[in-house]
Order: sequence, then structure tokens, then C-alpha cells
Amino acid sequence: DRRSLTPAREAEFRAALARIAAAAWARLTAGAPALDVVESAVRDLEDFPLFNAGRGAVLNADGVVEMDASIMDGRTRRGGAVAAVRTAMHPVSLARAVMERTEHVLLVGEGAERLAGTIGAERAPQPYFITAERAEQQRLAARQGKVTLDHDPLFNVPDPKDKRGTVGAVARDANGHLAAATSTGGMTNKHPGRVGDTPIVGAGTWAEDTTCAVSATGHGEYFLLSSLAHDVHARMAYGGAALDAACAGALGRVGELGGTGGLIAIDRDGAIAMPYNSEGMYRARVGEDGVVRVAIYSD
Ligand code: ASP
Repeated sequence: DRRSLTPAREAEFRAALARIAAAAWARLTAGAPALDVVESAVRDLEDFPLFNAGRGAVLNADGVVEMDASIMDGRTRRGGAVAAVRTAMHPVSLARAVMERTEHVLLVGEGAERLAGTIGAERAPQPYFITAERAEQQRLAARQGKVTLDHDPLFNVPDPKDKRGTVGAVARDANGHLAAATSTGGMTNKHPGRVGDTPIVGAGTWAEDTTCAVSATGHGEYFLLSSLAHDVHARMAYGGAALDAACAGALGRVGELGGTGGLIAIDRDGAIAMPYNSEGMYRARVGEDGVVRVAIYSD
């Protein structure tokens, strides 16, 4: 329902998406690798306080921000991720550090914080991340005993149905390499220590040069139980599916379980798919014509 978002708020989202997509495109046309481009796009999205990642992330049941992120390089098939981090201003870059500077794929909590300290990642105390609106959302969810998507219609806040979810980026660079990255605060009022699909390589994120790059958003438990991102890849690799069909099939399995959300994906030829089974999904794309296209609902 397009009317649930005030025109001013919608304009803010559209402007941020357009700006961030244009910056990513400029980097790609200047020859930057897909991996760098998805990381920097997600960093920009983490900085934008209306999205549920980095600054402006949702709060858990203790009123604390705990963030998850992952990144995957389709060229090398290497990936990195962090979960339940509380101080990293750019969890996606910490995920990249796990990939490039450790011999691991996923670090959580204390250990991930320690890596952030060791490598000198930018960190901030909790008040940096917490916005008044997110704190109010968490209080409402707690009062109703619910764990919710940041944009569930439950909230009696100024823009009750705003979609401000998890953030992600996928890209194909001039050399045909693919990459994907995803970052989130997770679900509002989640149990402390809860980890969703976002930092799980294969669920929230996948990239492989021979098929596609995928980044997911939605009710993480269902995306975990569907191995959504890897399922898109597998349908292409083993079933010969085209990107659109692979995405529809994989998202269909999330839907069968009762899960809502969506994904953004790009294939080895540069085809783009951005399906969702939720009311809307904030998204932007730039194709070879260089034109940025932003959409929220089925527009
Ligand atoms: N997928 C995220 C999670 O469950 C939430 C979201 O996409 O808004 O952690």
C-alpha cells in the first residue's frame, strides 16, 4: 500500500537509494572490482539511518543493537561474515576482514569485536546506532511480546508501514566478476544472540562467477531454513535455470514455509532480478545504459 509511506519519507528513501546506486555505478565504470563496489554500497546503506543496518539498526529484547553481515567474492568463492556485533560501524567491512585477514568465514560476538579492535575498524558505542524511532519500535514489540521485521505493520509509529529493512548489494564488474554483500540489525525485539540469515553464507548471501550473486532480505528464520541464496545458485548451476526462474523458485520455497521477504540478484551476463513476496522492497538498479532505477512497490 503505497499510501502508508508519507511522500516526504518516500522521497528520502528514493534519494538515498539513487545516490548510493549512482556512486556504485561510477565506481564500476571506473574499473573497480565488484567486491569493492558491493562493500562500499553496503557501507553507504549502513550509514543511512532509516535502513536497518549499521546506524539505525533495530534493537533486540535487551534494547541493544546486534548486527550481522556477510560478503562473498564470486571470483574466488571466498566469503566472510560477522554476527551479533555491537560496536562495528560498518559490519560489512568487518565481514570482509574476516574473509581476507583470518583463516575463517564467520566470527561472532566477542571474538568479532576483538578482530575489529585488532585491525582498527571504525567502532562506536551503542548510542551511535540507536535512533529514537527504533527504540520506540522495540518498546512496542516488547509490550506485545512479538519479534518483528523492522517494517512489520504492527508499529504505531509515524509511518506505520515503512519498509526499511536489511541492506544488500550485488554487482557484476567490467571483468565479469560477481560479488554480493548483506548487512542487518536483524529482527526487532529478537532474543539476544539471535542470528538470522544475513551473515550465513548460502542463506542471506551468495556469489559465484559461473552463475549469480544474491543478497536476501526478509524473515531470516525462513531464509535460513531454505538456504535461499545458495538455492538460487544451485538452480542455475545444476538445473540450468535462468536467473528469474531460479529466484522465483527459491523464493517460492521461503513462501511455502510462511516466510516473507525478497532478494536482489545479478547473473553472469548482467541480468538482474529483484523479486519479493512482501508488500514492497526498496531497491535500485543500474544497467548498461547507466540509468539509475529506484523502486519501492511494484512501480
Ligand atoms: N533478514 C534479516 C534477519 O532476519 C531481517 C531483514 O531482512 O529485515 O536478520
